[in-house]
Amino acid sequence: MTEATSFDAVVIGAGFSGLYMLHRLRGLGLTARLYEAGGGVGGTWYWNRYPGARCDVESVEYCYSFSEELQQDWDWTERYPSQPEILRYAEHVADRFDLRRDMRFRTRVTRAAYDEAAARWRVETDRGDRVTARFVITAVGCLSDARVPGFPGAESFHGESYHTGRWPHEEVDLAGKRVAVIGTGSSGIQIIPVLAELAAEVTVFQRTPNYTIPAWNRPLRPEYARWVKDNYADIRRTMRDSLFGIAASFNTGSALEVSEQELRDELEARWAHGGPGFLGAFADTPVDPRANELVAEFVREKIRQTVEDPRVAELLSPRDHPIGTKRPCFDTDYYATFNRPNVRLVDVRRTPIEEITAAGPRTAEATYEVDVIVYATGYDALTGALLAIDVTGAGGAALREKWAAGPRTYLGLMTAGFPNLFTITGPGSPSVLSNMFVSIEQHVDWIADCLRHLAESGATVIEPDADAEDAWMRHVGEVAEQTLYPRADSWYLGANIPGKPRVFMPYAGGVGTYRATCDEIAAKGYEGFVMSP
Ligand SMILES: Cc1cc2nc3c(=O)[nH]c(=O)nc-3n(C[C@H](O)[C@H](O)[C@H](O)COP(=O)(O)OP(=O)(O)OC[C@H]3O[C@@H](n4cnc5c(N)ncnc54)[C@H](O)[C@@H]3O)c2cc1C
Repeated sequence: MTEATSFDAVVIGAGFSGLYMLHRLRGLGLTARLYEAGGGVGGTWYWNRYPGARCDVESVEYCYSFSEELQQDWDWTERYPSQPEILRYAEHVADRFDLRRDMRFRTRVTRAAYDEAAARWRVETDRGDRVTARFVITAVGCLSDARVPGFPGAESFHGESYHTGRWPHEEVDLAGKRVAVIGTGSSGIQIIPVLAELAAEVTVFQRTPNYTIPAWNRPLRPEYARWVKDNYADIRRTMRDSLFGIAASFNTGSALEVSEQELRDELEARWAHGGPGFLGAFADTPVDPRANELVAEFVREKIRQTVEDPRVAELLSPRDHPIGTKRPCFDTDYYATFNRPNVRLVDVRRTPIEEITAAGPRTAEATYEVDVIVYATGYDALTGALLAIDVTGAGGAALREKWAAGPRTYLGLMTAGFPNLFTITGPGSPSVLSNMFVSIEQHVDWIADCLRHLAESGATVIEPDADAEDAWMRHVGEVAEQTLYPRADSWYLGANIPGKPRVFMPYAGGVGTYRATCDEIAAKGYEGFVMSP
């Protein structure tokens, strides 16, 4: 039997976005093909197999809500799920909804070109597939394009090198080895304490210290899991209407209007609880520098209390950005790890890595001889995976050119000039500023409803109006300017990638407000979109 080459939709990526999108397309009676570069489902959780890889959102909230049976049947074992458990969940979902038959693994989409005359997309892959589809839906991930900084001499290193986001599937034997970790963002903060237990020596190369809050991970108490399952409807509603897509309570009061004791009590209570709720102690932390500094200084004090060497404590203390303006980190024993005799910290802001030699990283001060280098250096976030595909829209215009000065979208869902191309959790939507499950489900549902609307109204093509897109981009920028986010050199604004335009990419208005806006636009007959037969 010859393989079909013509579909209603092509979906790119088999993470949680792609899995749910495929399921919804099936429900609409549409034909679909999903391409995935990796060898299996799970996306982030397929690739990030490094020791200590774990979700920062509570397990009972970091999962699908679309199927009541699924959310009742699945049992999480820990407060914060580990990578293997999340991967098992993704595989369970793929099997449960029989999704694999429309997927092609180890197949990377290299090109997607819109053929205006036919009103169809022509999609090509690195394995020679040539298919067409009315719709292309990218589910390529905000954090899937792993990046290693171009250190001179990196290929001359005699030991093993791994990026956390491309960790081998086989066990990596670290026992008795000397390990360098470059990078102290979320992944670095997760892997360093585990490596310190496994390896003989760990040398941490830090450019920017980050604030991290204890996760206090633990087995999930059965009675709590039961309570959550009994109350899922309410919990999900709270999450959907919230700022960040989590159920933790966010205070509405100001850090500047409480007494010193009240401030401390609130922060201590949230520190003792652990996790993302810590940042919800006061409503003005994300917007007022003075309020932010009170919370930031509380964390620095915790660092000084935990880390025995005052010089190391100071090096670990963030002073160049407000708390919460970079991707928040949650840890298990991160600061205490620096009290271990086999862990040392190198400040590469003062002495940058000049090259990687055969023996290991070399700074102006020393060569650090190691057996393994772990690159915890992050991603070309939000746009990297999408722009790696050669996408051309109406009139052969290239997406890379349209986005040369930064991504431009309407609602983060579509971009003008590229009809019938949808981006799940695209730039201009809350995406990485949220529990991504909430954002993923919202986008997939909105896209599925939009496709149904097109079918019912007899239209076949939809794209944003350029003016609506401009207005949305202005709004995204204005909302970001009301916050402290632009004060950090973060990957939210592309600062980790040399030459990348500095634009704050996610929408900072919160998932609740954003959902209401998207729903209102749909209710008004897809205001700001142009539809044609
Ligand atoms: C280490 C780490 C920790 C995280 N922790 C959290 C957390 O605590 N909470 C949270 O909400 N989010 C977290 N995230 C974000 C996480 O990415 C999302 O929660 C979610 O998994 C994204 O799902 P997705 O399907 O949109 O994208 P992904 O899971 O990234 O999947 C995208 C898939 O698309 C594939 N792909 C990309 N380009 C192509 C192409 N051209 N052709 C074919 N396939 C392609 C990729 O191989 C990948 O498998 C974390 C991310 C990382 C990296």
